Amino acid sequence: MTDFDYDLFVIGGGSGGVRAARVAASETGAKVALAEADRYGGTCVIRGCVPKKLMVFASEYGNTVSDAAGYGWTYGEGTFDWSAFQGKLGAELDRLEGIYRKLLSNAGVTSFDARASVSGPNSVTLSTGESFTAKHILIATGGRPVRPEVQNAHLGIVSDDIFNLPELPKSILIVGGGYIASEFACILHGLGVEVTQFYRGAQILRGFDEEARGLISDAMQERGIKLHLGTDIVEMRCATAEDLAGESQGAVPMGTPMHEASVESPQGADGPIWVKATNGETRVFDLVFFATGRKPNTDGIGLQEAGVELGRKGEVIVDEYSRTAVPSIWAIGDATDRVNLTPVAIREGMAFVETAFKDNPTPVDHDLIPSAVFTQPEFGTVGLSEEDAREKGPIEVYSTSFRPMMTSFAGRPDRVLMKLIVCKDTRRVLGCHIVAPGAGEMIQLAGIAIKMGATKEDFDRTVAVHPTMSEEIVTMRNPTRTA
Ligand code: NDP
Repeated sequence: MTDFDYDLFVIGGGSGGVRAARVAASETGAKVALAEADRYGGTCVIRGCVPKKLMVFASEYGNTVSDAAGYGWTYGEGTFDWSAFQGKLGAELDRLEGIYRKLLSNAGVTSFDARASVSGPNSVTLSTGESFTAKHILIATGGRPVRPEVQNAHLGIVSDDIFNLPELPKSILIVGGGYIASEFACILHGLGVEVTQFYRGAQILRGFDEEARGLISDAMQERGIKLHLGTDIVEMRCATAEDLAGESQGAVPMGTPMHEASVESPQGADGPIWVKATNGETRVFDLVFFATGRKPNTDGIGLQEAGVELGRKGEVIVDEYSRTAVPSIWAIGDATDRVNLTPVAIREGMAFVETAFKDNPTPVDHDLIPSAVFTQPEFGTVGLSEEDAREKGPIEVYSTSFRPMMTSFAGRPDRVLMKLIVCKDTRRVLGCHIVAPGAGEMIQLAGIAIKMGATKEDFDRTVAVHPTMSEEIVTMRNPTRTA
């Protein structure tokens, strides 16, 4: 018999929270409750990975159709119907949210549609006024997009808003050079939006392998995305009639065609936005989209008052078992700002259940996590970049870049990259970086070999699958360079 209302109270119904609640209830018989203030499924399902990937698919059809012409097919000119897509997307998200709710109820978890805060080491208070006690509390509140500190930043939208646009803009300025900025630059360009991207640094996708970043950035620009590196916004405001008149007279360059700004922004601005860049150029855009990072959702939910330690960004500080400074309070996923990826949050949730409910202390393994960036071309990556590996010791780099059969036959200039970083001493493959259509699918499988500790010779012993792009990963005989 427990002295608490629940064995576990989970705050947050995203991927990590739902998995932990469900597994604790169904596999250990624990009495579990979960509170979610918004929609079940969290960022990944409702306003992240899932709707984004469906938008990636939607945005790729334009190229597929033009490639088909290169293979002898004839089609009429196609147009994209945003509202038709959006209607189907909404229905799909409703369906997925329903599944999430059902998974919880089938596992015997009590769900609350309410905002919860921690009111003590073992107590939770809901926005409904109800309070409950729990032996363990799990913080799985995720994160949210943040705008930069430029004046009038509220005029810009963030990634949460992009799926709810009443119509697609004719032009958009995307600020940022990370995953979200680069993915949406490609998606929106593919859907026919005129995309300008400002990134304050020297090259997009900071932290990833430089050769891969360069190839993606070149390909994005070749496709028509106006990428301005070393550039940021210094001023922004609602565009005036004069600004719009100035645009149509061509007084403001930034290298993009002029148009009549048209769209009503769902957040802040209800019309076009005038922007001044760090290079002094000015321009009017239908929408400004800030993809300038995310912040853990940890304020105002009683964490510090209960004794939980937060870091500089507001992330919950946890040990390798996801336990906070208060032994009965745990935290997983983006709220802890470790590796902010859905499958990692799920792993952390499962490891938490092992530790707290199965008497099997399980630290979370954050090493060699494969991931994909859904730019066009797509990027799959696992392990160390060439630059990071060089810092650790002598390496061999095997790298090849070529035009793949499928798109080169259709007349597209796209190139792919297959790259392995190998430790000279142990021969282990330390990193694999693939820029290619389907790179996300490829890296999942390469990730298994690399996680198992495969050496370059193990790759070499594997017979190529021919004719494929990925066969290059087992046929690169001589190092491109050593370092
Ligand atoms: P990132 O941290 O990846 O990128 C933020 C970008 O905004 C960086 O380019 C950063 O520049 C720039 N930036 C930050 N502050 C400012 C500022 N004040 N002014 C101008 N630029 C600024 O965040 P995202 O929002 O793109 O993604 C958040 C997380 O979500 C990712 O880290 C990832 O873990 C996850 N995610 C994963 C995806 C996937 O797996 N495919 C897809 C989408 C998101 P700088 O580099 O100079 O700091």
